[in-house]
Amino acid sequence: GAVPERERQMIARRQRLLGPAYRLFYENPVHVVRGEGARLYDPNGNTYLDVYNNVACVGHSHPHVVEAIARQAAVLNTHTRYLNDLVLDYAERLLACFPPALAHVMFTCTGSEANDLALRIARAHTGGTGFIVTRFAYHGVTGTLAGMSPSLGEGAPLGEAVRTVPAPDSYRTEGDVGARFAQDVEAAIADMKRAGIRPAGLIVDTIFSSDGIFPDPAGFLAPAVEAIRRAGGVFIADEVQPGFGRTGSHMWGFARHGITPDMVSLGKPMGNGHPIAGLVVRPEVVETFGRTVRYFNTFGGNPVSCAAGMAVLDVIEKEGLLDNARRVGAHLKGGLDSLAQRHEVIGDVRGAGLFVGVELVRDRASRAPAGDIAARLVNGLRERRILISAAGPAGNVLKIRPPLVFSEADADLFLAAVDEVLGGLAQ
Ligand code: PMP
Repeated sequence: GAVPERERQMIARRQRLLGPAYRLFYENPVHVVRGEGARLYDPNGNTYLDVYNNVACVGHSHPHVVEAIARQAAVLNTHTRYLNDLVLDYAERLLACFPPALAHVMFTCTGSEANDLALRIARAHTGGTGFIVTRFAYHGVTGTLAGMSPSLGEGAPLGEAVRTVPAPDSYRTEGDVGARFAQDVEAAIADMKRAGIRPAGLIVDTIFSSDGIFPDPAGFLAPAVEAIRRAGGVFIADEVQPGFGRTGSHMWGFARHGITPDMVSLGKPMGNGHPIAGLVVRPEVVETFGRTVRYFNTFGGNPVSCAAGMAVLDVIEKEGLLDNARRVGAHLKGGLDSLAQRHEVIGDVRGAGLFVGVELVRDRASRAPAGDIAARLVNGLRERRILISAAGPAGNVLKIRPPLVFSEADADLFLAAVDEVLGGLAQ
């Protein structure tokens, strides 16, 4: 559909005020004024099914989270250089969700800050400077992280001590994905050493969101983690996307792989939209950094943020959202597998819990990516007021990542719309 006049004016106003670096979703951008559960609403009262937003993990504007933020904001909000129980109570509650070896948490406001802190701690601990990332990774907005986020494109060149490895692509790799990924990490380590760079770490999003969503087979990460540790580096799990129960089987993406990282960065869903993030770390890994550097983050770990984080954990537990992610995720994946039987363009369906990728291809023999069809499907769904996006280097992997309160009925609505739009595109 054409962009209505009111929204055209808003787009012009954004460009005038926010400048040229921002990007909107969809050919016909979505104007939203309210959210509830897995629904967003436009100013005309139209309902959008949210099949994309992981930040609002317990549902948009969940009353328990809203109430916790409001209650604490009315009492006290300050920083972590005074004694206050709330940051300790939340730290204790959060750390209880991790293997005991990960015993400290440091609070930040964004996933980027958490990752940036992880890099500094890794350098201090290992004495190295070299980092390995996947070929189409995204890890954040700081200068250093932009140089470790090849998905940003040519405008964000890789850092000098950064090496990339191909993503663990289960759809295109012949043989053992984990062995192959570890070999690639070893090759990157060897390349660093030839350049006189000492390895500091391997950092991956444990579900490889921007690379195209690669969850399986569970366990494939373990050999690469061993490889980086053998080389003296640390393993950093970026849980900004898969964390907080999204994969259904576990609270964290790394747990599916049977490993315990050296550091874990958290963000997006942690406060259901309130800006709270953090880095969970092994005490021995942060020892040198802690002895030599003072850490203070003005807003990180403030009582209001901690109240939000605590409320999110309450809801995940009380509403059984891991179970829901597992159950509805399986239903959704089953439905997509059925669609694949009727639509040749679907080359692969993969996912864990409520994080599902659908790879669209020109034909199943060549597996050539069909990014243009993915774009038409994403925009076609938007016209039916259903929100998803696409990921991967060719933009051909549907990124299906709804709030964890997504229901089977929601999944059925989504599946019917995908079926319809794909049917229309084939004609
Ligand atoms: N890591 C990953 C895997 C992410 O997806 C993002 C955000 N898209 C970040 C880090 C950065 O988080 P933030 O935007 O909160 O800085």
